[in-house]
Amino acid sequence: MSTTISIEEPRRFIGIVTRVYSGFLLIGFALIPAYLIAYLAFFQDASLKFEDHAFHEIAIAAATLEGLFVTYVTWRCYLSSGEPLLRWLTLGFLGFVLIYALHGTFTGMAHHNMWLFLLYGPASRLVMSVLLLVGLLSYHRAPDAVERRANPRPWLTWIAVFVLIDLAVGLVANSPIAGSLALRLSMEGGALIFSTLNVAALMLRRIRSPLMVIFGISVTSFALASLAFILGKPWNHMWWLAHAIFAGGFFLLSYGVVQAFRTTRSFATIYSQEELTARLADAMARTESALQELQHTNHKLEHLAATDPLTGAANRREFIQQVEAEIARAKRDGAPFSLLALDLDHFKSINDSYGHQVGDEVLRGFVQKCLDAIRPYDDVARVGGEEFMVLLPRAAIDAARSIAERVRGAVATDMFYTENGRAVAVSVSVGVIEFGRDGDTIDTLLRVADERLYEAKHKGRNRVVAG
Ligand code: GH3
Ligand code: MG
Ligand code: MG
Repeated sequence: MSTTISIEEPRRFIGIVTRVYSGFLLIGFALIPAYLIAYLAFFQDASLKFEDHAFHEIAIAAATLEGLFVTYVTWRCYLSSGEPLLRWLTLGFLGFVLIYALHGTFTGMAHHNMWLFLLYGPASRLVMSVLLLVGLLSYHRAPDAVERRANPRPWLTWIAVFVLIDLAVGLVANSPIAGSLALRLSMEGGALIFSTLNVAALMLRRIRSPLMVIFGISVTSFALASLAFILGKPWNHMWWLAHAIFAGGFFLLSYGVVQAFRTTRSFATIYSQEELTARLADAMARTESALQELQHTNHKLEHLAATDPLTGAANRREFIQQVEAEIARAKRDGAPFSLLALDLDHFKSINDSYGHQVGDEVLRGFVQKCLDAIRPYDDVARVGGEEFMVLLPRAAIDAARSIAERVRGAVATDMFYTENGRAVAVSVSVGVIEFGRDGDTIDTLLRVADERLYEAKHKGRNRVVAG
């Protein structure tokens, strides 16, 4: 199973061209409002107006509700990731909503108290642009501590600040300086400058993560919206376009926030497609190698669970399984099979005379001798201390008897040589049975094999008894 993603390296030249092209596309896209502004500025009569208070009120009410929702989602993201950028974004949205709502509320005053109606717009955009710039400057700062995130004090302080700004704007709107162009220009111009600085900082710091690209396009929209507000007059088309551009930027930024909410809850750790693909390829490669290692370990474990550690022969459990499988096969195709039960003679005295370690060496040597004497598809199992069994598939009793004789002869004729050159003589007694002839369940087969083995012992050892 090898499912890896291979990323073919694009040719260097094509790579550069496509990167530059996608950069231009982004800039071109971010500047779409500028084309609309230019269009209206050059081709539309600036005195044409669309003054509809109800429409304006509904639009601002919708913007306020949406703004509150986005503030909430941003705040949730902040609570979970603690990113300072998200803290400032939450404050930016909240400040905007709390000030901008009054712009809608005072729509009815448009004629009665024009400035009370108008000034909340630029004031809200100025506040938001400042907070977003501060937010950008905190991009990639360490996350806030959890206690700090949940502390309501700073949030309440900020809400108080926004209410104070509301009051201040109300006071200014009712003061003699309200009508001054300089005041309006300085607020809207301020918003324009802060948003432009924000875009510039983003580009200078070469922040390119996907959500920050969205952030950049949104802030460009805010800058252009402020430009359109400066160029527009209340209720004319440029003024309405300014609202639309601002709303577009706001929607886009809230899209980014919602993406963050639905994924990592963070603005910084949303990856670009290239990064994602690379990470995916890396993760899959690691999974693949972990899987291989696991398979390897599993094989080792399976082997360990099936073998006797001293001699490397199959263990009793494994042997029983093999015999069960062999019984099933014999029942299916009627082919014979036989078993040998082997027990080393007077093994205790070998231990007694040479020591346990030599005894162990003899056990290992015995298994080797068995393997040499049997056929390649026969299997030796150690079923007790110095007791072994051999499974002989497709061998009837006669064939089994001669294999048993071969083993017995090999053991009895040749001495065992231990590692330090000591020669040890040993012999083995063997009981032989055939499936069907001597029984057809594992219990009977093992019992009869044991009886034959003990018969061999009884008859003087170093012999084969096959019934
Ligand atoms: P018999 O001919 O009747 O089989 O005599 P025996 O001495 O071989 O039989 P007995 O069952 O009395 O003794 C078996 C001995 O095998 C006793 C025990 O110490 C030894 N033995 C069992 N397991 C091991 C082992 O892992 N290593 C060694 N070195 N000796 C073992
Ligand atoms: Mg013995
Ligand atoms: Mg024994």
